[in-house]
Amino acid sequence: MQIFFLIIFLSVSLFFSSSAMALDLIFPQKNPYNTTAEKTYLMGSVKKGSKLSVNGEHVKVWHNGAFCKTVNLSEGENTFILQEQFCCVPLIVKITKNPLKNVKKTCRQIQKLVYKNLMFSIVSDDYATVRSDASVSSRRITDLPKNTNIFVEAKYGNWYKINVGKSCEPLWIQEKNVKLLYPINSRVSSNINNVTFCQDNLFRYLKIKFNFPVIYMLQEKNNDVILTLYGVKNADMLYNISNKQSVFEKINVIEDKKNNNITISFISSEKIWGYEADYQNGELVFKKRKKPVLNSDYPLKNIIIAIDPGHGGKEKGTIGPTRIAEKDVNLNVSLLLKKQLESRGAKVVMTRETDDCVPIYNRPEIAKKSNALICISIHANSMVDGDPFEKNGTSVFYYNEHAKNLAETIKQSMLKDLKLKDDGTRKSSFVLTRPANPMSVLIEIGYMPNPDEYLKLTNRHFQRKAAKSIADGIEKYLNENTQKYYLLPGTGSGF
Ligand SMILES: [Zn+2]
Repeated sequence: MQIFFLIIFLSVSLFFSSSAMALDLIFPQKNPYNTTAEKTYLMGSVKKGSKLSVNGEHVKVWHNGAFCKTVNLSEGENTFILQEQFCCVPLIVKITKNPLKNVKKTCRQIQKLVYKNLMFSIVSDDYATVRSDASVSSRRITDLPKNTNIFVEAKYGNWYKINVGKSCEPLWIQEKNVKLLYPINSRVSSNINNVTFCQDNLFRYLKIKFNFPVIYMLQEKNNDVILTLYGVKNADMLYNISNKQSVFEKINVIEDKKNNNITISFISSEKIWGYEADYQNGELVFKKRKKPVLNSDYPLKNIIIAIDPGHGGKEKGTIGPTRIAEKDVNLNVSLLLKKQLESRGAKVVMTRETDDCVPIYNRPEIAKKSNALICISIHANSMVDGDPFEKNGTSVFYYNEHAKNLAETIKQSMLKDLKLKDDGTRKSSFVLTRPANPMSVLIEIGYMPNPDEYLKLTNRHFQRKAAKSIADGIEKYLNENTQKYYLLPGTGSGF
């Protein structure tokens, strides 16, 4: 009798588990699901060769079992009944479309608290980020080390506004990173104590020693890099030395005596290859990359390139219709790209080579420390709502102007070989696009939710083609933008 019940129990649970497995809904991730979008999609998989209907209407199933159905949403609750051919219990998905709320823009003109006097303050954390507005989503201007002197003029929410004189854009810093010390009548300026210029194979350097660290900002304008120092006196030393000793092509120093700010422009006839500045042992070190010299036959020979396979470990990235994770697609393409680049003579540094979860801020550090000329971050795109059959294709991202052309050249090479739709070249502030050294580009090869692109992204042959097209793009960019030297018989590598 007991055995009889056990058999009944096993067959019932087997039936339910197999029917539950037969229809696997990946998107929306939640059921019921809430959105404000006009359109969204139902994406997942059924058993290979099986049929699927949504609200009685036949839906295409790809040969790997993937399906993706775009649905229009009406205001309020929308019900979708997903019925798989071999499954007796339909899956009911409820999606509620909420009206778009009018988000009131906060006005920064109204300061909650404006200090009567400036507040002499210091950075109290190991470092603090200065931003262009009182919000973590605003533009990052610089990071400041501990004990940097700042002058706070107002407070807005959890943010302090830093006084840098009238001529400059407002700078903001989070309250938690700062210690207010005492009121002061006017800003105290830091003195320049020492200025040094030097160079090595890869970079030209300007090093400045101050009484105390000051806020600085880096910008680029065409081929020029502009370094602004806030609250500094004694630009004479900078004038004198830069006239005599500069290792840079041309330097322009402008002193704004009223506000005690100094602008140093590194003017060049060559395009920018990378630059950065940070404090090292209390000294501000600015460095600008020299134009690489390439071997005409092997433009990638000895060029250091960092590859960052997006996500990894417990950070899976986007999950495709049959549950292959983006992190694995990214790693496969990245390892193939490494092979491609190495076969052309490049030295490749990887931010990960296995299924590891490398913290996001460590990744650009790995690239920077390796002295890479270029850093390429590899991803496959996700999609929150919308229509995956309308929005798809290859896109590339950059942040600093000097990386735009590299991003565009790589994308063109990919479009030519992979023949996906052009999904754009966009300026975006990501952890992996922000560094100005190395030159940083992030690639979204295609979209995981689109079943056609998913089939390609998870196909080894396509991954190899993608890796080759990216390597071709990098090589083409270097070929077009550098001077070459020609090997004479028996002269060695020339490096
Ligand atoms: Zn990603």
